[in-house]
Order: sequence, then structure tokens, then C-alpha cells
Amino acid sequence: MEQDYDLVVVGAGAAGLLAAVAARRLGERVLVVDADTLAGGSTAGTDGLIWLPGNHLMAKLGVTDSAADAEEYLSALLGPATIASTAERRAAFLRTSGKLARWLTSSNVALAAVKGLPDHNSDLPGGKPQGRVLHAQPMDRRVLGDWSASLRPDTETERGLVRRMLPGRRSTRTAGEALVGHLLHRATANGVDVWLDSPVIGLLGDGAVTGVVVTQDDVEVPVTAHRVLLASGGFERNQSLREEYLPLPTEEAWSVSGATNTGELLSLAVAQGAATAALDDAWWAPVMLVDGQAWSLDGARGKPHSLIVDSAGDRFFNEAAPANTAGRALYDRSRGVRAVPSFLVLDNKHRQNVPLGPWAANSTPRPAIEAGEIVRAGTLNDLAQALGVDRAGLLGTVVRFNGFASKGKDLDFKRGESAWDAASGEAGKRRNPSLGKVDKPPFWAVKVYPGDTGTKGGLVIDEASRVLRPDGSVLPGLYACGGAAASMFKGSTPAPGAALGAALVEAFLAATDQPERRREL
Ligand SMILES: Cc1cc2nc3c(=O)[nH]c(=O)nc-3n(C[C@H](O)[C@H](O)[C@H](O)COP(=O)(O)OP(=O)(O)OC[C@H]3O[C@@H](n4cnc5c(N)ncnc54)[C@H](O)[C@@H]3O)c2cc1C
Repeated sequence: MEQDYDLVVVGAGAAGLLAAVAARRLGERVLVVDADTLAGGSTAGTDGLIWLPGNHLMAKLGVTDSAADAEEYLSALLGPATIASTAERRAAFLRTSGKLARWLTSSNVALAAVKGLPDHNSDLPGGKPQGRVLHAQPMDRRVLGDWSASLRPDTETERGLVRRMLPGRRSTRTAGEALVGHLLHRATANGVDVWLDSPVIGLLGDGAVTGVVVTQDDVEVPVTAHRVLLASGGFERNQSLREEYLPLPTEEAWSVSGATNTGELLSLAVAQGAATAALDDAWWAPVMLVDGQAWSLDGARGKPHSLIVDSAGDRFFNEAAPANTAGRALYDRSRGVRAVPSFLVLDNKHRQNVPLGPWAANSTPRPAIEAGEIVRAGTLNDLAQALGVDRAGLLGTVVRFNGFASKGKDLDFKRGESAWDAASGEAGKRRNPSLGKVDKPPFWAVKVYPGDTGTKGGLVIDEASRVLRPDGSVLPGLYACGGAAASMFKGSTPAPGAALGAALVEAFLAATDQPERRREL
């Protein structure tokens, strides 16, 4: 039987659910469909950090911020406008981000400011060393009633991202899950229909989108709608699209993102005439592999007593840099020398004090040692041999690095000098919180791959999140946000939480762009 809605949202991650709640509030009949058997998307397994410049909550931490400050920062960081990062899109983001923070809190999605997460380039004009990041307050899943069992628990996908930089902040464990939990509650309690285990396999219409085709138990169900919003994530879990668009080598397994983000909607939208941009970029993040599964190295690589080298044994970037810069550095280096994989080298002090992937601090992961996923050696010489890294190169690099560590100054890559580096280093360490000698045996190493938390490329959208054609005209009926849309932040990531911040704002803009009513929340 054919179904009809005002708005069909594809994807029950944070962005999709937020759009559904906002559109429902404006009186629309809304359906959310997701291919997964659980709601929450990638978002549920994250720290749920949300970069919302100009939000009212940072003031409680004594931070003054405004859309004008953030505009100055984004201009300095991103440079001239591009097809995916137009002046209009940037302005709409900055105009709406503070408003969205207020709307969420007034919609019973309790948010709090996060301390100690600076903008990635806080030394640029308008940058904030104290950050502009919010996260959702923990929620009691029981309020979801029957829907409680359909919300992805954060432990299922957690792979140790930024939270590993935040010792003691255990409440953040629930922030991504809490965000989607709050939104799922608001959606289901207010009459949004949610269909899980229902992949979208087609878009209805020809040159103007008029609905979707969903499969349920192998039956194709057409659903017509005035508007379709793609909140379906990127193509990070699609090996052939990765090979077509991302720098090589690339592996789907290097992504820490959700397994159902396979990018089918990208191809379906292109078949309808949509334009794409930024397809060669991702939210890069250096990762290691354990049992074929990617684990972020963000919590380990900025801590003292560690460094990263290429196959020649040379350092080639500031290991404490933000994830996007660090992941990208592996590809940039690969043009001259084999750097995919590179190697994170640790001494025993690091191993004793810092968790690494799934392994707690001071643990000896024997199965992983036997599987060669982590290498342990009594000397750097033996470590180099076991890794297949140039021995003289590694020894020379460590001597030079240890010299920098004793002076607290990294003359090669300035590690530890920015507010971001300090936040990712060792709390309370006096001189350089990110530098410490690599000299206490045994030595340890893991392979480092240029992984990601999602792809950045996607459908070109305008300031109302409407999908555009290559000639800049609007493709009627189709909207996109988050990973499904081409990011405004190609090449540079402004801050932790920028992916989610942009995704939520784009979703809100799509939901409130109701051409027939032109209503505002
Ligand atoms: C481990 C991890 C930690 C992260 N931490 C942060 C962070 O703290 N802050 C931040 O800003 N960003 C973070 N990110 C990135 C962030 O999670 C994403 O940018 C954000 O979740 C995007 O939300 P979304 O709603 O667009 O997509 P998602 O949450 O990925 O949801 C997409 C949904 O679409 C569904 N879908 C896909 N294809 C179909 C189809 N054909 N039919 C139906 N449904 C479909 C998927 O099943 C999925 O549920 C993190 C990512 C990961 C993987």
C-alpha cells in the first residue's frame, strides 16, 4: 500500500531525528526510515561533541562568543568560498548555530558546555582556546519505553575518539547516545513515524524527487512525500566508492563509522541530476587495526613518550595535531616515502599510563602481540627490525626527538605548542604537555592508517540544505545534510564537533524550509 508524508527523512542518526522533530513541530507528517535495525546511526557511538559557535552555554564557562567572531575564524581558516562552502552556506550556519542550541535546550534536549576542547586553530582571528563545544546531558533510556530496545547503545560502536583525551570525564560516554536518545524520544512521542530495518533503494520522481522506495522484508514499499531529506551519512563503508574517490590506498575497514553508511543515496541522487563536491576528502583520523576493526589513536598520539614515523624511520608531522590534519599527513607524506601505514612508537612509560585502542593502560595484550597487531621489543633496534622500518632512520629520529623532549621544544614540528596540543597532552605536565623522551624499554609500536570518522564529500546543497544541480538550480523535493551533503569544511576542520554541529544545523535548516508555509520555529 502506498504511503504519503510531507517529509521523509532517510537516516535515523542525530541529524535525521532532529529534522524530524523540527518538522513535526511545524505540523508536518513525518516519516524517518533507516536501513539499520537500531536507531542512532554513527552518532550514537560518539562523544556527541557539537560545535555550535555563538551558543549561549559557553558563557557559563566565561567564554564570550558571537557569530561575528566565528565568521572571522571560519574566513581565516577556510579561505575563499567554494561550490560547497559558499558565503551563503557559511552565513546560514553561523546565523543558526546559536539559535539551534537554544531551540534544543527549549525542546528538552539538555545540553552542556564542554570544557577544555579548543578550536583546532585557536590562534587564528576569532578562534577560541576555550572552545565552543556542547554535548547532550545523560538521559535515562527508560523514558523511551518500547523504543528503548531500538536505540543503539554507545558501547557498541565506541572506538575511543576524543573522550580518550579527557581523562575522568566519564559522563561523556553517554553523550552521543543521549543526543539521539533525547531526539528519538521527542520524535516518537510527538507522532513521527520511524521505520527501522528499512533501507531506501530508490528515489521516486524524474528530475524532481517525489518520494522514496523502501524495502521491508524484501517487499518494496513506495512512499510519496512533498520533500525528502537525505540524512543518510557518507559513503565511508563502501569500498568501491572509496576507491573511486578517496586518495589511495584506502580501506573501508579504516573507517570507525557506522557499517550502514554505504552511500547508495549519493548515486541515486546523482541519477536524479544532483551535483556533488569534495568527494576526495574525509574527516580523517589516524587509526590502528585490531581484529580488522579500526580504533582511533586520538587519545594516545598526543601524549608524551610517543612519536610517529614513516617506513624510513622519520617523523613527518606534529603527532598531537587534530585528527583531520594528522590523518591527511599520512597521505601527503606517501608521495615521497611509504607512509601508509606509518608507525606509532611508544616507550613503556606511555604504555603504563595511556590506553591504546581497546587495551587499558599497563595491560599486556598477548593475543594482539601474537597476531602482530602490536609489536613489543627490548630495544629500538629490534623494534625497527620487527616493523621493517629503517633502523638507522628510527634510531636517529629518536635521539633527535629525545633532545627536543628534554628541552620541551619540538624544533621540527612544534608539537605541544598550540592550545589544541596542550589539551591532547598530559594533564598537569608543566613544560611541554605533549613531549616526553622515548627511552624506557620495552618499546611498543602499532601500525597507523589514515582512517576516518566519515567522508566529507557528497551532494551540493544551498543555505536551506536544498540539493542543487550542476548548473546551480534547485533539484525540487530533495534536501541533504550531514555526511550525505558536501561539507563546508573541505580540507580544514575548524574544531572537535564540527561534523555534528554542521549536520544538525543543516538538518534544522532543511526542516524549517517549508516553501508553502515559510514558517520559522
Ligand atoms: C566513532 C565516531 C565518533 C565521532 N565523534 C564525533 C563527535 O564527537 N563530534 C562530531 O561532530 N562528529 C563526530 N563523528 C562524526 C559524526 O558521528 C557524524 O558526523 C554524525 O554522526 C553524522 O550524523 P548523521 O545523522 O548525518 O549520520 P549518521 O549518524 O551516520 O546516520 C546515518 C544513518 O543513515 C542510515 N542509512 C544509510 N544509508 C541508508 C539507506 N540506504 N536507507 C536507509 N537508511 C540509511 C544509516 O543506517 C545511519 O543510521 C564521529 C564519528 C564516529 C564514527
